[in-house]
Amino acid sequence: MRAFLGLLARNRLALAGLIVMALVVFFALITPLLPLPDPDVTNTSNRFVPPFSEGALLGTDHLGRDLLSRLMWGTRLSLAVGFAAALIAATIGAAIGIIAGYYGGRTDNIIMRGVDMLMAFPYILLALAIVAALGPGLLNALIAVAAVNIPFFARNIRGITVSIANKEFVDAARLSGMSDARIILTEILPNVIPVIVIAMSTTVGWMILETAGLSFLGLGSQPPQADLGSMLGEARSALITNPHTSIVPGMMILVIVMAINLLGDGVRDALDPRLKSGALNRPLPATLVARDRKPVEPKREGILTLTDLETQFHVKDRVYRAVGGVTLGVRPGECLGIIGESGSGKSVTALSVMGLVASPPGIVTGGSVHLEGEDLIGAPYRRLRTLRGRKVAYIFQDPLATLHPLYRIGDQLIEAISAHRAISGAEGRAKAIELLEAVRIPNAASRIDNYPHELSGGMRQRVGIAMALANDPEVIIADEPTTALDVTVQAQILSLLDDLRRERGLAIVFITHDFGVVGQLCDRVAVMYAGRIVEEGPTRDILDAPRHPYTARLMACVPELGGGRRRLEAIPGLPPAVNDLPPGCAFAERCNRVQPDCRKGDIALEPSGPRAVRCLNPVPEQEAAE
Ligand code: ADP
Ligand code: MG
Repeated sequence: MRAFLGLLARNRLALAGLIVMALVVFFALITPLLPLPDPDVTNTSNRFVPPFSEGALLGTDHLGRDLLSRLMWGTRLSLAVGFAAALIAATIGAAIGIIAGYYGGRTDNIIMRGVDMLMAFPYILLALAIVAALGPGLLNALIAVAAVNIPFFARNIRGITVSIANKEFVDAARLSGMSDARIILTEILPNVIPVIVIAMSTTVGWMILETAGLSFLGLGSQPPQADLGSMLGEARSALITNPHTSIVPGMMILVIVMAINLLGDGVRDALDPRLKSGALNRPLPATLVARDRKPVEPKREGILTLTDLETQFHVKDRVYRAVGGVTLGVRPGECLGIIGESGSGKSVTALSVMGLVASPPGIVTGGSVHLEGEDLIGAPYRRLRTLRGRKVAYIFQDPLATLHPLYRIGDQLIEAISAHRAISGAEGRAKAIELLEAVRIPNAASRIDNYPHELSGGMRQRVGIAMALANDPEVIIADEPTTALDVTVQAQILSLLDDLRRERGLAIVFITHDFGVVGQLCDRVAVMYAGRIVEEGPTRDILDAPRHPYTARLMACVPELGGGRRRLEAIPGLPPAVNDLPPGCAFAERCNRVQPDCRKGDIALEPSGPRAVRCLNPVPEQEAAE
């Protein structure tokens, strides 16, 4: 609640609306207590007194009634009718929407077609028809305004309910034996109330206007009773000669509706969790770059090299150093593994290569990425777009999230190709089948017309790989492509990738947190911790004799089949938060070989032969080899 008020208060216009509305409502509430003249007493000798006159602050109307008094009482009435109509429409509409959405099927059909019929009438005409049938009067105007707004609520709430009614927690409630009524009250209703409030806050203004409209036409409040609409209606004949009689109620309507709408927008923004999280802000097509230094020359050999790459997330006043100076290189035909605990910055490193880190909040703050000698950091978006998928392709962890659920996989493959070169339909189809065969999908020719949901997880991941291969890239970056799969499928996918790189000379950057996978596939491996490489070298050497205490401890966590009853070690403590990294070695807190020096100043990645380690006190070689 406090967070909600805080968000609301940050929206200046909404705050202004709130203050104005609070004042209006306050005065409406205390009107009976104020020393005002009777709003309905006429005094024709005192007609059309101008505003700011003695005894009549806002003047008088055509019957000599005090305008200030009529305005206050009229506002009170208009507000009450508007809010009551909104409440009635919201309650009935939400009830209809929830019932239709929850029960679905025929109930839904009958109810919603009825609602559609109501919606098919012009809005104001329907209200007029209802008042005509019921007879003029404020109560009937209220009923009419509420009735014409019910379909709006019913439609809105039904949509939300349908999506909630199929969620697992509702299934669970049903299985636990709850009655429908209880499910609706305890599971569905709390989830739709924010939507009801949002819909109400954005329609109250409308309803006040509509009621005023009906009164203006003489169908709402009846003389002598004043509401804002009837005051306007009565002032119409004196619009030119005595404009103040129209301006007073007109201004009030304007102020109220403006304030309510501003407030309503603010309420919606503050309540809608999607707006709050910033998920509706679309990220830029390429990661922002803010390099203060000159472009850095590559320090490693290879087709793709990363040099001192730094990527940060700037969220409000916090800075997350997700990648803090990573240097890597991968040669054609080589497979480089990147391994580390989750949160160590592997994915952000991989995404930075092609400018795919979401910006905002991501920013590349330093270093360079060279692809065949060309610096990609800060390259124009058009250039990145031609390289993405054609030179460097990605395979992601969750193939279901990468594939579009509503298109056949063949069409998605063809689209991946046609994004880079024109291709005819038949040619595209042939190429798609060829790709599916390359990733060993049986019956490729018939599978091509399947939708993603018709494939198993392993198959889908193969389609993901096929898509990555579609444009014969030179580098494939695979971000935990097998983590979601079971071991047999994982083994097949790994051998598939291995074959592909041997056949096509692909360079592969393979991200994982599994040493077994690294051992099977990778020529070299880099161990990442808190956004930096802590150890790097040929896979065999590192697996046989890890030098960095983190690598050693990480490997001690891996169970071995048939390895006897070895005690599995967990690494105590947690990785540091990347917005608050300690000076010196980030692993010092959890390290069993820590020395006082480890906590001072920066520690360099010291090369020794083909290996390198970022540690002042590495595991001695004999001990490591055991
Ligand atoms: P992993 O090694 O598991 O792939 P990531 O590269 O995804 O780790 O994340 C590295 C770090 O970056 C994590 O500490 C994470 O909290 C941080 N991070 C990732 N995305 C964001 C974001 N949008 N805003 C703030 N921090 C982020
Ligand atoms: Mg990751």
